[in-house]
Amino acid sequence: MAFVNENFLGLSSGYLFADIARRVKAFRATHPETKVISLGIGDVTQPLCPAVIQAMHKAVDEMASSSSFRGYGPEQGYDFLREAIAQNDFQERGIPMDTEEIFVNDGAKSDTGNIQELLGQDCIIGVSDPVYPVYIDSNVMAGRAGTKAQDGRWSNILYMPCSDENGFVPSAPKGQHVDVVYLCFPNNPTGAVISREDLERWVQFALENDVLILYDAAYHAYIRDAEIPRSIYEIADARRCAIEFHSYSKTAGFTGVRCGYTIVPKEVTAATHQGERIHLGHLWNRRQCTKFNGTSYISQRAAEAIYTQEGRKQVQATIDYYMDNARRMLDVLRSLDFECYGGENAPYIWMRTPDGMTSWQFFEALLHGAGVVCTPGVGFGPSGEGFVRLTAFGSHENTQEALQRIVDWKNGFSNNN
Ligand code: PLP
Repeated sequence: MAFVNENFLGLSSGYLFADIARRVKAFRATHPETKVISLGIGDVTQPLCPAVIQAMHKAVDEMASSSSFRGYGPEQGYDFLREAIAQNDFQERGIPMDTEEIFVNDGAKSDTGNIQELLGQDCIIGVSDPVYPVYIDSNVMAGRAGTKAQDGRWSNILYMPCSDENGFVPSAPKGQHVDVVYLCFPNNPTGAVISREDLERWVQFALENDVLILYDAAYHAYIRDAEIPRSIYEIADARRCAIEFHSYSKTAGFTGVRCGYTIVPKEVTAATHQGERIHLGHLWNRRQCTKFNGTSYISQRAAEAIYTQEGRKQVQATIDYYMDNARRMLDVLRSLDFECYGGENAPYIWMRTPDGMTSWQFFEALLHGAGVVCTPGVGFGPSGEGFVRLTAFGSHENTQEALQRIVDWKNGFSNNN
């Protein structure tokens, strides 16, 4: 008899985006005349830039000839991409990085989900609340989360609430044990960023308490403020306590291409129960060689093209395009007295629902009142209740239209058709 991994049965069944899709479908059925616009999607909408497209065409042509055809590549990624990453994303910014510390992946979701395989079963995991759900669910699947309480919280997960009071940046826990902490900046869903001083405090805490930081930098390309760290390794000591995840999904529109990378510095170790220190880079390499056969050659050539002079300019133009949306959204929403956070160094705006409405109540009101979709904040954790997430990934036209409809709705018009 095959037994199931019963850890999966503890996962919450209502998947946020499926729930949203179901409600939008129901709305469309009763309002067929309304064009629904989504400010809720976490996917990009603008095409790949020309430098990337050219590189992909060239790579496809190479596959057509036996002399340049590529089969399985190195599990860790091709040297041409690892070298481009080391040089452009780190060394040029004064951060030491060895290509062997770079593991190319098929996007950050896989690695942020899989990294917990390196951890002992009894590790206590710390996460922000609200949170990108992958960090929790992957630990639940592994049976590390403990038991689930009535409110949906897990006994072996330490939830670090994020609110306007702490600027949506959790401080290191005091008097509560934690072994591993996931941090994500710029943050999905709140759009918050972390200052250098706060990040230094986290690194200090990790070193003093032997805590491993899993740092998700998937949105680093959206940081505009030069004072905000783009990588945890801008804090030199972080090499001893942090693993960092990167993605080209939001940097360069690779959500459908699939490529990113994970940094495991040589200094990062974790302990056996006998007290021996084990290099996590060795374990991760071993894990990848067993379970991962590399990212496609075509995707890696596409990623490499982002680092060319043309590629850099083109990718930046697309990021600026989205950030232009974010700026307009903040301007309009604030002019309507909505309380908004994020959106300045991140493609996400975290908005408090008015009049004490719950996240889902506001979701329904906005959908029915303006034909606009948002993402209920409570779907990212209990501290997300009373907020919604809006994204800047739409086209200018759709974003503009959505904003106009919100203005009309707020002003008491019904402008759904
Ligand atoms: N990390 C965060 C915080 C995200 O929001 C996402 C995607 O939305 C990812 C990681 C995964 O991105 P990908 O797998 O497309 O690289």
